Amino acid sequence: MAYKFIYFDLDDTLLDHKSAEAAGLQDVQRHFSLFNDTKPQELIDVYHEVNSRQWSLYSQGEVGREQLQRNRFEQTLAKLGLDESRYEEIGNYYMQCYRNHWQWIDGAKEAYEKLYASFPVGILTNGFAETQRKKFEKFDLYDSARHVVISEEVGALKPDPKVFRHATNLAEVEPDEILYVGDSFSSDVQGGTSFGWKVAWFTGNGNLEQHKQADFVFHQFKDLTDLLEV
Ligand SMILES: [Mg+2]
Repeated sequence: MAYKFIYFDLDDTLLDHKSAEAAGLQDVQRHFSLFNDTKPQELIDVYHEVNSRQWSLYSQGEVGREQLQRNRFEQTLAKLGLDESRYEEIGNYYMQCYRNHWQWIDGAKEAYEKLYASFPVGILTNGFAETQRKKFEKFDLYDSARHVVISEEVGALKPDPKVFRHATNLAEVEPDEILYVGDSFSSDVQGGTSFGWKVAWFTGNGNLEQHKQADFVFHQFKDLTDLLEV
């Protein structure tokens, strides 16, 4: 398969967002005495539920970025029966902690380096521009990626075709010459294939029907580099 451009998703594909989020929330739980009677896992579970709902509203344009950043901690505190007026200091502290825990997914750095030596590569990510830019800097992605596309800057979130159109135009190739490597079934597999991209789905889950929608399914980055013969 002659791919002419490879785009990578960032969170939970190249970088381990989920672990950084959990570790950041554990730091938060330890730091503020108002969480003395809250178990770390309880905070993580409630935050996850609230944050997913807020992201879904954000992707539908029903809340803005600042509202999301406020709501996710205000509502988490409310659900835990704690003082919700402290959402701002807790949210700010969380972002500092979250950043300290960023790291590559196992095997992703080596695979990414091999691939960008052989293909033009880019990053295509949902997420907040300010945060994602800091990740690009910390992991030297600006030096290796030809194009970095952040949904917030495009004004639409994956799986919206606007995002994929924008990224395709930047790559200056045909949609079916692009391989997208991502972990989300709805944002990456459905979003990418609907626009005509080929998609390599990084997952340990999914049912057979879902697997069939991706062009390639892999669980270890070595399988991706083997496929692409790098
Ligand atoms: Mg992802």
